[in-house]
Amino acid sequence: MRFGRTYRARRRPHLNLRLVMAAVIGAVAIGSYLLQSSTNPITGEKQRVAMTTQEEIALGLQARPEMIARYGGLDPDPRAQSEVKTVGLELLNALETELRKQGRSIPYTFNFHLLEDPRTVNAFALPGGQVFITGALYRKLGGRAELAGVIGHEIGHVLSRHSAQQLAKRQLTQGLAGAAGVAGGSYDSARMAQMVGEMVNMKFGRDDELESDRWGVRLMGGAGYDPRAMIGVMRVLESAGGAGPPEFLSTHPKPANRVQYIEDVIAEVYPGGVPTGLTR
Ligand SMILES: [Zn+2]
Repeated sequence: MRFGRTYRARRRPHLNLRLVMAAVIGAVAIGSYLLQSSTNPITGEKQRVAMTTQEEIALGLQARPEMIARYGGLDPDPRAQSEVKTVGLELLNALETELRKQGRSIPYTFNFHLLEDPRTVNAFALPGGQVFITGALYRKLGGRAELAGVIGHEIGHVLSRHSAQQLAKRQLTQGLAGAAGVAGGSYDSARMAQMVGEMVNMKFGRDDELESDRWGVRLMGGAGYDPRAMIGVMRVLESAGGAGPPEFLSTHPKPANRVQYIEDVIAEVYPGGVPTGLTR
C-alpha cells in the first residue's frame, strides 16, 4: 500500500504536462539554434547565426544613429573624419583585391565614423559594416598605422559575424519566439528597438577579441601597414587607464595579455620576419 500511495502521489498530470511542455519548448529552442548553421562568406567557417548578411547590414544601419548619439555625435574635424574613412577603405581595398583572386568579394557595406566623445577610449562595430572610433582613442594613437590596427580589429568583428553569433545565442536563452522573429525577418518596432539596444551594448568574448586582433594584423599587412603597430595600440590602451579603467578595457581583454598573442600572430603570418616594405 505504501508503494501504491507513493505512486499515486507522483501521478500529478498537470505538473507532468507542464514539464513536458517546458521540455518541448526547450528542445525546439535548442534545435532551432543548432539548425542555424551558415557558412561565413569570408572565413568559410560554419557558424550559428540566424540572420542573412542583408539582415546584418539592415540591423547595423538601424542601430547606427543610437551609437552616434551615445558617444557625442560625429566629430566635427573634417580632416580627422576623412582620415578614419581613408584608412578603413585602404584596409578593405587590400582585402577585396585578395578575395577577388579567389572569385569572392566582401558582402558587407562598410561605413567608418569618428565619434566626438573626448573621454571614452573605445572603438565599436555594429553588424554589417558600421565601424566607430571615439575621439578620445583616436587622439591618443601614435599615428596612422595604429589607427589601421584599431579599425582593422573592428572590421574583423564584422567579417567574423560576431554580433550575429551573439544574437543567435541570446535568442536561444530567450526561447523560440525571438529566433523565429529574426529568422523570418519580421522586425516589428518593439523587437527592433530591443535588438538595437542589444547591438549598442554588445560585449564580445575573449576568443572573438583575439580573432579580431588576428584580422587587424592581417588587414594591416595587406594594406602595407606595419602590423607591429598593433602592439602600440595595446600600449595606448594600457596607459589610458588613468583614474578609472577606460571603456575599452571593460569590453575587451586586458591589453597586456594580448601583446603576446599579437606577437605570435605576426610571427605566424611573417615567419621570415616582417617585410621591410611595410613602412606605412
Ligand atoms: Zn573588439
